[in-house]
Amino acid sequence: MPDRLNLAQRAADLQRMAGETFDIVVIGAGSTGTGSALDAASRGLSVALVEARDFASGTSSRSSRLIHGGLRYLEQGELCLVREALRERSLLLNVIAPHLVRPVPFLYPLTRRLWERVYVGAGMLAYDTLGGSRGLHRHRHMTRRQALRIAPGLDPDALIGAIQYCDAKVDDARHTMTVARTAARYGAAVASNAPVVGFLREAGRITGVRVLDLQSREEIEVRSRQVINAAGVWTDDVQQLVGERGKLRVRASKGIHLVVPRDRVQLDTGLILRTEKSVLFVIPWGRHWIIGTTDHDWELDKAHPAASFTDIDYVLDQVNSVLASPLAHEDVEGVYAGLRPLLADESEGTGKLSREHSVSSPAPGLVSVAGGKYTTYRVMGRDAVDAAVRGLDQKVPPS
Ligand SMILES: Cc1cc2nc3c(=O)[nH]c(=O)nc-3n(C[C@H](O)[C@H](O)[C@H](O)COP(=O)(O)OP(=O)(O)OC[C@H]3O[C@@H](n4cnc5c(N)ncnc54)[C@H](O)[C@@H]3O)c2cc1C
Repeated sequence: MPDRLNLAQRAADLQRMAGETFDIVVIGAGSTGTGSALDAASRGLSVALVEARDFASGTSSRSSRLIHGGLRYLEQGELCLVREALRERSLLLNVIAPHLVRPVPFLYPLTRRLWERVYVGAGMLAYDTLGGSRGLHRHRHMTRRQALRIAPGLDPDALIGAIQYCDAKVDDARHTMTVARTAARYGAAVASNAPVVGFLREAGRITGVRVLDLQSREEIEVRSRQVINAAGVWTDDVQQLVGERGKLRVRASKGIHLVVPRDRVQLDTGLILRTEKSVLFVIPWGRHWIIGTTDHDWELDKAHPAASFTDIDYVLDQVNSVLASPLAHEDVEGVYAGLRPLLADESEGTGKLSREHSVSSPAPGLVSVAGGKYTTYRVMGRDAVDAAVRGLDQKVPPS
């Protein structure tokens, strides 16, 4: 089994893909596709994983990098989603990837008297209780003085007290790459720069995919008994190659982050700020802060989402509302934008769309998995593979 993913391994795996019939082909090597490939390979299935560009080059390298349940989803009443994500957080922190996933504290500045402390405190108590305490500190209430001691960069007039709670963070691209490599170690054939450009069909059934090798410009036919479409915001485009309308509609919602030098904001903790429609995070990241995010529909090129000046000004305005020394455009060393693959609902704004995932089988031999969050990639992979296994007609061990 290969130890690394490189040109020699890629060439060998493409050769394998041209000759073998796999149990499952997975389209897309973001967190969902690599999670599906690893789940299937570790259950003893033969797997091919193909990625149009580079590993994690889509949304899975452009997130807020939090492994979290999401306090905001708790407030929206998405209890099952939060519980599931917090279970995954605990698994990732303590069992699956303690070398990649790290605790991160967040301070929530309070601005209103008693009711806000009671309301937010109750939410954090529920969050801690649902998440279990292993590996993370429980939330704690603070006076303004205590809060300013760990967050001297805050404007003293911007808070009357605070509550601090703990979540987790991960280098998303590195983690996805690690999952792809682990899938390869379990025997998956893996190739990047290998977009799916068509489907193979026999008697109305999907029996594989046509893959374009972007290095040689040759097309190969990869045969399989099941195909999993894990193409994130490209789910509908891949579905269109089948020639039939799928059951899942995915809407792309853009979120941006600013990258600011650590010494520009004096904090010994991350921050979470309530905004009009959502929340804003200030996340410690090495010698920088990552500050975001936003939530707007994106209709342009999905491979190149970009931040507008309006997006940047919005994030600066939000964070400056609590800082003693406001950030300016010159303080911003980097900006990145990503697209959330949200399950579509024509009637809602993207901020209100659920972060739950869905699995469907739009054609015999094809399974689509979309929506969800980075944090729940393992559950998404498991559910997609479970659906594919139902079409395999053989006994496969559980995930
Ligand atoms: C701004 C922002 C912040 C976020 N923050 C968080 C967070 O803090 N925590 C959290 O849990 N979640 C977060 N998310 C959500 C999370 O990042 C996504 O849900 C997750 O990364 C989606 O992964 P994916 O594998 O489904 O999609 P992607 O990572 O986009 O992967 C899909 C892959 O399919 C490939 N592909 C497309 N077409 C083809 C084809 N024809 N052939 C082969 N391959 C193809 C693409 O190149 C791509 O690599 C955030 C999202 C955004 C946008």
